[in-house]
Amino acid sequence: MSAHAQPVPAPAEDGEGMRAAVLRAAGSIVVEERPVPRPGPDEVLVTVAFCGICGSDLHVYLHAADRAGAVLGHECTGVVREVGSQVRTVEVGDCVVVRPSYVCDECEFCAVGDFRLCPHHFTRTIGVGAPGGFADAVLVKDYMAIPLPDGMDLGAATWVEPLACAVHAVRRAGVGLGDHVTVYGAGPIGLMVLAAARRAGATELVAFERVEVRRDAARLLGASVHSIEDLAAGTVPAWLRERGADVSFECTGVQAAVDAAIATTRPGGTVLFEALYGSPQEIDLTSAIPRELALLCSIGSTSGEFQAAIDLIAGGAVDVNPFTTSVVGLDELDDAFRGLTQSTGLVKVLVTPGSPDDQEVAG
Ligand SMILES: [Zn+2]
Ligand SMILES: [Zn+2]
Repeated sequence: MSAHAQPVPAPAEDGEGMRAAVLRAAGSIVVEERPVPRPGPDEVLVTVAFCGICGSDLHVYLHAADRAGAVLGHECTGVVREVGSQVRTVEVGDCVVVRPSYVCDECEFCAVGDFRLCPHHFTRTIGVGAPGGFADAVLVKDYMAIPLPDGMDLGAATWVEPLACAVHAVRRAGVGLGDHVTVYGAGPIGLMVLAAARRAGATELVAFERVEVRRDAARLLGASVHSIEDLAAGTVPAWLRERGADVSFECTGVQAAVDAAIATTRPGGTVLFEALYGSPQEIDLTSAIPRELALLCSIGSTSGEFQAAIDLIAGGAVDVNPFTTSVVGLDELDDAFRGLTQSTGLVKVLVTPGSPDDQEVAG
């Protein structure tokens, strides 16, 4: 579905209702009627076109019973429906991707625009501390509604947020020309890391992944795909066996991959952790220190990296369309979450409040 095909939404009326998918308990999402929020002076009401289900949404769905009543979803795109009186950055009818974090106005990081480091980052994000994108409409601050280039596919644009995180990780790890890179986990973030690392100049990519559809996706990005067991069996590429990776990215959140990432990085190389870990993990420093590994963490992205991700997708440098494996309606959200938690072979599920039959994902 392309940007110019979007109808301009009519302004919201007082008392108008909308549908929102509400987390009722851990493992249960119910579609409920809620009032359409009205924008304050610096706010923008966005009619949601698509909202991607992120690993962090799954994490909340499974574990955060205390988040009952929340509307999840932060990887969303849509069309501006209404703007507050002070908004100058977007107009009604503009296609936007939502940058999901609020600025807190209290900390040193927000003061310089690097709000992913804000101590309130996780509590002040749409889909976390404020109602998210699994709804007909979402209310955001003006600086969170980022205009998209004309004609950019709104389904593809839901990948901007995960790709921006990958751009940040790849820059932070310093991937350069000719580097040999391993990525543990080929879910959405791992796939975007593979794509970004290739664009940054990596010439050899190895992905470790078990789920077949994700293995296929990693191969599309030029990676040689293995399972962690292949390391012990010695059936991985010779450079990995004999020398190790220049940079290893850990995107699974499991201990076996943490251990393998450290073990398979060359002396002086870098291991970057970019997963959500459900519990503390062990890091074997007796292995990492004698080889002087750089152990890095990565979270979120900067404004520049968010824009870079828009440009990479819009310009065709990263083709995300093969990785959207299904599009579901709001009513099917609970089933979709359950499917993802059972790893039934999905990479990325997009939710569209309109009928999924009417939508075309790949442009
Ligand atoms: Zn996300
Ligand atoms: Zn802050």
